[in-house]
Amino acid sequence: MHFDLTETQQLIRQTARDFSVKELEPGAGERERKGQFPKDLLKKMAELGLMGVNVPEQFGGVEAGVVAYSLAMMEVARACGSTAVTMSVTNMVAEIICKFGTESQKQAHVPKLTSGEYVAGAFALSEPGCGSDPASMRTTAKRTDKGWVLNGTKQFITSGEYAGVSVVWARTGGPGGKGISAFLMPADTQGLEIGPEEKKMGLRASNTVSMILEDALLPIDALLGEENRGFRIALTALDGGRIGVSSQAVGIAQAALNAALDYAKERHTFGKPIGEHQAIGWMLADSATELEAARLLILQAAYLKEQGRAFTRQASMAKVFSTEAANRICARAFQIHGGYGYVEDYPVERFLRDARVTTIYEGTSEIQRLVIARDLLRN
Ligand SMILES: Cc1cc2nc3c(=O)[nH]c(=O)nc-3n(C[C@H](O)[C@H](O)[C@H](O)COP(=O)(O)OP(=O)(O)OC[C@H]3O[C@@H](n4cnc5c(N)ncnc54)[C@H](O)[C@@H]3O)c2cc1C
Repeated sequence: MHFDLTETQQLIRQTARDFSVKELEPGAGERERKGQFPKDLLKKMAELGLMGVNVPEQFGGVEAGVVAYSLAMMEVARACGSTAVTMSVTNMVAEIICKFGTESQKQAHVPKLTSGEYVAGAFALSEPGCGSDPASMRTTAKRTDKGWVLNGTKQFITSGEYAGVSVVWARTGGPGGKGISAFLMPADTQGLEIGPEEKKMGLRASNTVSMILEDALLPIDALLGEENRGFRIALTALDGGRIGVSSQAVGIAQAALNAALDYAKERHTFGKPIGEHQAIGWMLADSATELEAARLLILQAAYLKEQGRAFTRQASMAKVFSTEAANRICARAFQIHGGYGYVEDYPVERFLRDARVTTIYEGTSEIQRLVIARDLLRN
C-alpha cells in the first residue's frame, strides 16, 4: 500500500492550488458577504479543466480520476467554499450524463459543462416537502404527444439560476422510488420559472433557488436513462457527490486550521503566544489529527470509486466524519480567535458559516449513518 500521489494527481492539485491562491482566495470574503456569484471565475476554472476532472477527454474533461477530483475540490474549498459547491455540482452533473446519457445527450451537454459554455450544471432532486426522502417526491412528468410535461417544485437547487442544464427528477409511475425518472432540462425550457434566491447562513456566493415547473415541456429524448429507473441514477450520483462535499468540508477546515495556527503564533497572553498554552495547543492537535483522518477516509472512498469498486459505505463514512470534523475544526479555530473570531475582519466566522451546511446537503449526517448501518447489517 502506498500513499504517494501520481504525477497527474499532483498536477491537478497544483493547478487547483495555484488558481485558488491567486484568483479565488483574495476576493472570497467580499464575494460571500455581498452574495456575488463567481461567474467569471467559474469560466476560468473550466478552462483549467476543473469542471470535468473525472470526465472523459472526448467530452472535454481531463479524465484525471476521482482522487484528483477530490484533491482539486479540497484546494478550491480552502480558498472559497461557495465556488467549491458550485464546482462540485457541475462536475457531478457532467459525470451523471456521461454515465447514464445517450451519445447525443453526452454530445449536447457535457462539452458545454466542461468548457464553461454553461456557467454551471444543476441537480434538481429535493422538493419543498422532501429532502432526505426523495422517493416521496411529488413532481410529476407525463408523456404527451408534444413531449414530457412536468409539474411541481424543486427546492434548494444549487446554481439553479445559472445552470445551462439541470438533471431533474419527477414521478412517471407509481409511488416510491420505482416510479421516478430523470430528465435533462435546459435553461430555456418553456414552463420553468426560477424562484428568488435563498438568503443563506453561509456559502452566500453560491446560488440556491427553487425551480417551479408549470407544464414545463421537455422533448421525449430528454429522458435520462430508462423510464421509472431514475431513482437509481440519483442514488449513484449522490454516492459520488458525497466525496465532493466531504472534500469541500476538508478544504474549509484546512483553511480554518491554518488561520488558527497563524493566530496562535501571533497572539500573546500572559507573556507568551496563545499556542503555547496547553489548552490551545491541544485544540490545534485535535484539529490536525481529525483533518488527516478525514482526508484519508475521503481519498479511500475516491480510490474505490475510481477502481470501479463498491464505495457507498466508504463515501457515507467519509461524509459523516469529515463534515462533522470540519464543523468542530471551524468552531475551534473560532474559539482560538477569541473576540476577533466574531468579526468579519478575520475569515473564521465565514469558515464556520460555510462548513455548517456540509452535514446537511447531499444527505444529512443522520442519513449517512442510516446508509452505513444498512450496509453493515446487509453485508
Ligand atoms: C445550501 C443548500 C444547497 C442545496 N443544494 C441542493 C441541490 O443542488 N440539489 C438538491 O436536490 N438539493 C439540494 N439541497 C437540499 C438538501 O439536500 C436537503 O436540504 C437535505 O437533503 C435535507 O433535506 P430536508 O431539508 O428536506 O430535511 P428533512 O429531510 O426534512 O430532514 C429534517 C431532519 O430530520 C432528519 N431525518 C430525516 N429522515 C430521517 C431518518 N430516516 N432518520 C433519522 N433522521 C432523519 C434529517 O437528518 C434532518 O435532521 C440543498 C440544501 C441547502 C441548504
